[in-house]
Amino acid sequence: MAKRRGTDAAQPNDTLTTFACPNEDCANFNRFAAGNLSVCERMGKDQHIRRLYCRTCGHRFSERQGTLLQYTKLPEKTVVQIVKCLVHGCSIEATADICEVTPRTVRWSPSWRKRAAVPKTSIACNWRS
Ligand SMILES: [Zn+2]
Repeated sequence: MAKRRGTDAAQPNDTLTTFACPNEDCANFNRFAAGNLSVCERMGKDQHIRRLYCRTCGHRFSERQGTLLQYTKLPEKTVVQIVKCLVHGCSIEATADICEVTPRTVRWSPSWRKRAAVPKTSIACNWRS
């Protein structure tokens, strides 16, 4: 039988090998699969966002930290769909319609747009910050 660690029996910590501690002062900073992380809490309406705990430094962080999903509660599938629409040149309104969100959600954050590397030329006529 597989050995499980941590508090998240529904998702074994084996899935945490793609995460690393984001604390630059930590001895395990940016070290993947170091065995220092565990799930300490679940967040979001459906409890689908994991908060991770680093045993080395005691830092807690969202599994979404440092990703396009960091400041949104939207499902990952919706965020990916929005980014794809914008990258392919859809207008804000078209993207909102396709993704079934409000135009305000699509406009949501300049930093989000920047981090997604959405070409300015594809949205310049529709983007209002
Ligand atoms: Zn750490």
